[in-house]
Amino acid sequence: MRPALLNPLFASVTSLAGVGPKQDKLFRFLLGRAETPRLVDLLLHLPASVVDRRARPKIRDAAPGTIVTLEVTVDRHRPTPGRNSRAPHLVYVSDDTGAVVLTYFRAQPGYVEKLLPVGAKRYVSGTVQLFDGMPQMVHPDRVLDEDSFSKLSGIDPVYPLTEGLALGSLRRAVAQALQKIPDLPEWISPEVIKRCKFPPIAEALSRVHNPVELTDILPDRPFWSRLAFDELLAGQLALALIRAQLRRPAGDRNSGDGHLRKKIIDALPYALTSSQQQAAAAITDDLRQPVRMLRLLQGDVGSGKTVVGLLAAAAVTEVGRQAALMAPTEILARQHVKTITPLAERAGLRVAILTGREKGKERRILLERLATGEIDLLVGTHALIQDDVIFKALALAVVDEQHRFGVRERLALTAKGEAVDVLVLSATPIPRTLVLTYFGDMDVSELREKPAGRQPVDTRAVPASRINDVTDAVGRALKAGKRVYWICPLVEQSEAEGVEHLTNAIERYESLHQRFGDRVGLVHGQMKGAEKDAIMEQFAGGEIGLLVATTVVEVGVDVPAATIMVIENAERFGLAQLHQLRGRIGRGSEASTCLLLYKEPLNEMSTARLKVIRETTDGFRIAEEDLRLRGEGDVLGVRQSGLPGYRIARSDVHGQLIVQARDEALRIMKSNPKLTGERGEALRCLLYLYERDEALPLIGAG
Ligand code: ADP
Ligand code: MG
Repeated sequence: MRPALLNPLFASVTSLAGVGPKQDKLFRFLLGRAETPRLVDLLLHLPASVVDRRARPKIRDAAPGTIVTLEVTVDRHRPTPGRNSRAPHLVYVSDDTGAVVLTYFRAQPGYVEKLLPVGAKRYVSGTVQLFDGMPQMVHPDRVLDEDSFSKLSGIDPVYPLTEGLALGSLRRAVAQALQKIPDLPEWISPEVIKRCKFPPIAEALSRVHNPVELTDILPDRPFWSRLAFDELLAGQLALALIRAQLRRPAGDRNSGDGHLRKKIIDALPYALTSSQQQAAAAITDDLRQPVRMLRLLQGDVGSGKTVVGLLAAAAVTEVGRQAALMAPTEILARQHVKTITPLAERAGLRVAILTGREKGKERRILLERLATGEIDLLVGTHALIQDDVIFKALALAVVDEQHRFGVRERLALTAKGEAVDVLVLSATPIPRTLVLTYFGDMDVSELREKPAGRQPVDTRAVPASRINDVTDAVGRALKAGKRVYWICPLVEQSEAEGVEHLTNAIERYESLHQRFGDRVGLVHGQMKGAEKDAIMEQFAGGEIGLLVATTVVEVGVDVPAATIMVIENAERFGLAQLHQLRGRIGRGSEASTCLLLYKEPLNEMSTARLKVIRETTDGFRIAEEDLRLRGEGDVLGVRQSGLPGYRIARSDVHGQLIVQARDEALRIMKSNPKLTGERGEALRCLLYLYERDEALPLIGAG
């Protein structure tokens, strides 16, 4: 149950004066909530900028076009003459240096007179303009009497808004919400408070919403940072609490004596690289721990992650349990099975595949075998997480190319067993801060060296106007018996049907087919699985020399004989995607070439991307550059500069805080894992405040 202390912050915004049903709707939209937002949502909606009203010149010195606050006496009114007149209501005000006209269009009768009584002293703030040589202020932003004026700093916050919502009404709502903040306990440790110079939360909220200095609203200043740290700490603590629950019973292990792994290693036609060996050893160690494994295996395309995953599967088979390997596409799932099966057979591991294509009786029999434990390793696509897929004893989930799957799918798979160990394989290196933010303290193994015999890829950017030269070169390559990929981008999805527009690929296929005949093939996402496989097979076998493809070949496809890749409209692809695509070549012993065709003119971002991809094949560097170029949200496929799921914390500014929040969460888990006592209570408040309380029922009341 939420601590009663927090109730005022969880009152709905409609309890505020001036917030009715219409505002409710606008606030829901603005704050991204399906239900009526609460005061806490409003308070965590932080300003994007400020208006500085501190300039206090005399009227004579007020520079036209600038925002000023004038101290004036009201001289006289000239109200709108008649009901239907479009003429504004004018108010003449002055100080000892001159006069200004305040102009109000379509004012409510009586409203302006009340705001600016004749003879009264007022502070009016707004932009001064010259109109017919006379200084004028149209609709002053603020009109204040002495008393209210003395309470304001002269710096107004400006918030992100939504159509129909006035800045003034948002400000008034926030001002009321600030009054309702209860006396909150401190949940951050004194050491961190001191080191980071964090103010108490109430002060942080009050200062970002009522800035005293222009810089008070900046994300890297202590006020915003304090709130960002709170949010990150809540996230880290929640992840840590959940993870701590997933313990195996004492003495229970998911790793056996190694006899199956040895058989696999003996059957390999190559020697494992030292980073593969290290990763496999780390995994074995994890599988023996009483805490569930959560490990990320990062390695560039072609670095040999699959065999490491297979060894992990063998380890759980040694103790009679099962493993699942989930891949993002059918092509990839089938390819995994193809590489894995011969090795697995040598070790007596029973491998099966389940995708959308296995149906009817075949599927039924497979599921039966799975449920009775006659399958040791089940490889597949999303089809693995269907409800009727039941394992006898699932102990390990290997998830390939994680960034394609949501957290939901990962959880759905691990829910099919008890305290299932998780190994995530990722070819796109996920930057450390992102791993921390979304997986918490996940262990990471990296495959840094490429298997022996890999060739560097010569990458060049070529303007699309030279496509004929490129086609000629491809023709020469085909004659010489080389294998070529020709990649066309998927043009946006048709919104109505969600169907891929394949015109690009199909048209390109037709023109290339006309020129080179039957040695040209086409593969795209709309084709049936069997069709796709057949084409890939022909390409691998050499019957097809030139394969026109959409990005379906992006992930994991392995045709070592392919040495040339043409990427059309390369400027439309993201860095990570270009890198993935290019990883399809340079896999054999021959030198490879990648041609990036681009449409001119290139914008700044595309120019930068093509430069990076030409300069390096190091996936880690590419991921870092990618991050720098577009912000972290995008790496996860979400277009925004912040961190998805986080309102306050931002990857570009608060990267360092993520690490500190992780450390703080670890200290808490060590010293007070049940969140008891005064500090525990405070931390519970924090989790509720940032809606990360899902783990609290697991540890019980404090
Ligand atoms: P990725 O990390 O992209 O998933 P794979 O696991 O598909 O890479 O491996 C790519 C290719 O490299 C496969 O054909 C695999 O058999 C081969 N391979 C893996 N490890 C080694 C190694 N240590 N030495 C040589 N070849 C290897
Ligand atoms: Mg792979």
